[in-house]
Amino acid sequence: MTVSVGVLSSGRGENLRYILKAERSGYLPVQVKMVLADQPKAGALQIAREFDVPCLYLDPSGSSREEYDRRLMQHLDAAGVELVVLTGFLRILSGTFVKHYQNRILNIHPALLPSFRGKDAFQQALDHGVKWTGTTIHIVDEDVDHGPIIYQVPVPVRETDTHDSLKARIQRAEQRAYPKAIKIFLEGFRLENLWAPWRIDYILSKKPPGCIFCDKPREEKDEENLILYRGKYNFIIMNAFPYNNGHLMVVPYKHTASLSGWQPEEQQEMMKLAEMGVELLRKTMKPDGFNLGINMGLVAGAGVADHIHLHIVPRWNGDTNFMLVLSDTRVLSEHLRATYGKLKEALAAKERK
Ligand SMILES: [Zn+2]
Repeated sequence: MTVSVGVLSSGRGENLRYILKAERSGYLPVQVKMVLADQPKAGALQIAREFDVPCLYLDPSGSSREEYDRRLMQHLDAAGVELVVLTGFLRILSGTFVKHYQNRILNIHPALLPSFRGKDAFQQALDHGVKWTGTTIHIVDEDVDHGPIIYQVPVPVRETDTHDSLKARIQRAEQRAYPKAIKIFLEGFRLENLWAPWRIDYILSKKPPGCIFCDKPREEKDEENLILYRGKYNFIIMNAFPYNNGHLMVVPYKHTASLSGWQPEEQQEMMKLAEMGVELLRKTMKPDGFNLGINMGLVAGAGVADHIHLHIVPRWNGDTNFMLVLSDTRVLSEHLRATYGKLKEALAAKERK
């Protein structure tokens, strides 16, 4: 699976060169589809031509910020861009743009954020006499040089440093840092070859204290909580932050992190409910196949580490394309409710038989 990338730049664009090298070497599963610049002489345009990437200078004079951003969006969307990467792009993006590519815009800033935001971070670091500065790659939100941090590399400041020597050292660190950060970003949101950018809302959200798998069944609000079916020892719940449409989970009522110490009937019921979930999805959504799996521990990708659960993820041929249609979180949550209704109906039909 390859993620389509659009790059915005005002300057030299050396970082674009390293991203393109990382693409061509196979290090990054991306394809840079479009490079846009707001300066006619931006080095990034030249680099794009060297690598045979479509590129365009868009003259900002005479347009408002909003109007200009809409033009950028048109070009990026037309190129099928899924991820926007800023390399020395000096304009502040409008709220419209940031929302349009919410959590899918990356920026690099030559300092260890939150220190030294804004202009000339090199001089700011020298003026403050810090011993370390560095580079930060972060997700762009509506504030300048602000948003969730993906990756940072510290860089020492030497006694003898000038503005230019420090800048050169930081730029050397950026060459590897930006491709690495993009890789980390993409891997954070991928399950096999699925690309599910909306999951970042979950990954970045503050997790409430307690355990959702203990709390939800106790609340007795099954429809609101997307609980589809209750067995004796386990229940079926829809994943509110799905990898794919129709993503279900089978969860035991008891709070346990492992499969050991279960009674045979508890384990049997978990598998029985898994089969039931598969059958329901097969009837209602006609997937081409399924991924079933249990995450154990935090590093396995589970948001809830200490309450075991079995994932049922329906898969369609070419479902990465299918999902992009749904990549707006709100659209997806409506789908969740619609899917819940469909599955409930199928369940009722099954019980009538
Ligand atoms: Zn629990």
